[in-house]
Amino acid sequence: MDVVSEKIPSLSDDANYCTMHNLLIKQQQAFMADPVVNFDIRADRIDRVIELLVKNQKPLMEATSEDFGNRSQHQAQMADIMSTINALKYSKKHLNDWMYAQKRKVSFPLNLFGAKARVEYQPKGVVGNISTWNFPIHVAFSPLAGIFAAGNRCMMKLSELTPETSALTQELIDQYFDETELVAINGGPEVGSQFAALPFDHLLFTGSTQIGKHILHAAADNLTPVTLELGGKSPVIIGRETNLTLAANKIINGKAMNMGQVCLSPDYCFVPKENLYTLITAIKTRFKALFPTVYDNPDYTSVINDKHYHRIQSCIDDARQKGADVVDLSESTVGSSDTKNRIPLHLVINPSDDMRVMQEELFGPILCIKTYKHIEETTAYINANARPLALYYFGDNKHEERYILDNTISGGVAINDVMTHVSCEDLPFGGIGNSGMGCYHGHDGFKTFSHPKAVYRQSRVNFMELAGMIPPYGDKCKKQLDKLTDNR
Ligand code: NAD
Repeated sequence: MDVVSEKIPSLSDDANYCTMHNLLIKQQQAFMADPVVNFDIRADRIDRVIELLVKNQKPLMEATSEDFGNRSQHQAQMADIMSTINALKYSKKHLNDWMYAQKRKVSFPLNLFGAKARVEYQPKGVVGNISTWNFPIHVAFSPLAGIFAAGNRCMMKLSELTPETSALTQELIDQYFDETELVAINGGPEVGSQFAALPFDHLLFTGSTQIGKHILHAAADNLTPVTLELGGKSPVIIGRETNLTLAANKIINGKAMNMGQVCLSPDYCFVPKENLYTLITAIKTRFKALFPTVYDNPDYTSVINDKHYHRIQSCIDDARQKGADVVDLSESTVGSSDTKNRIPLHLVINPSDDMRVMQEELFGPILCIKTYKHIEETTAYINANARPLALYYFGDNKHEERYILDNTISGGVAINDVMTHVSCEDLPFGGIGNSGMGCYHGHDGFKTFSHPKAVYRQSRVNFMELAGMIPPYGDKCKKQLDKLTDNR
């Protein structure tokens, strides 16, 4: 039986599309030829990803630095390599438990006659994974922790903005995997749009909100289920009862990661009006401690390319022109003529809503700071804008913390820290509204990429007949139905 032919549209003339389409057919056919994917097969695939990363981490990290101009190799090892290996190991460790069928309760009166119910988690088939440049290794490989754990095969579309890393990734995947298990595709938006139009069994997209909308349109034609991991503006609320130095340190530690080019990076920060200058001083001190110099500092990651460099610079200029107080934290121009697209962290104090810094996701070394008098102003502002991927609260006031948790909606929340919640594999990771739909990581990733198949086993007793619930219907049936529909 040709199990995939029904789902596959007719081949287009386009060579890229044909190549990708043929790969998908091969993967789907290989999957259906062997749909029972036991623990050993899943664990072996996860192990091969781990081996690929462990053995090739140095060239992979160096490739990211080539792509960025300069990229902290410590951060690359932490956020691209270590976090991905952790996710893969976590999945492998728990896989045995996740794979078991789950018993479910059978409701009255079927339970009286020995019926049984369970959920079996079945692989969906072939998952497409479109990824970004900001953590080019992590975003491409970490979803495999869930995709492979669930027993699927995978096709990845890598980012065109990291050509060195994407080329090496493709080469390594070819070495470690058969193309029917895992295959990487390189190309830009055009290839991306053709990729998204393929009839995958599930499509994961990590990227911007704007492109996320195209993905959903493309997937709709195939009724492909989609998980969208998008971005947006993640706010920080600093409560009144908090240690400002501690908050500043953690916010700047987070902002320093990939120099703000992180979907979860703190974007704007609310601080009580009376604490503004204490916060700015604490931020300056922290930044100076982390980066005594900017332009010649190997720890200071560059902005990915000229386009984004100019985008960020023009956001800063726009804020200045419109009258915001803009603070350049480098306080030094030594080496400022370097060609590596490094931009010092800038604070924009009390920006107005017509400034680009408050209209766009910053995704770079800018942090906006807004002051407030009453905590309700912070939640009102957040709720008047798109739902964020993450929200951060610093404070020791439980009442205030509860108020913020109850009165805002975001993908996730970190309390007294920024971004670290993403490393907790047992938490679902995903956005809501403009910041995404669906989630993965850990068990939630396994479930996202599995089909929860309901399996019901009837006992030998013919319950319907016994209860008189088959035609010709009569009094017995009516009595039973009256009893079952009585609300007492
Ligand atoms: P992007 O949306 O421009 O590109 C993402 C991917 O989509 C790339 O591989 C690109 O080639 C492809 N693409 C572009 N046009 C396409 C189209 N029409 N159809 C299909 N695919 C297309 O995003 P980006 O600039 O690479 O990444 C930055 C964004 O990603 C930010 O908004 C950031 O917040 C977000 N992000 C989210 C997460 C998360 O996990 N939620 C992680 C990293 C980045």
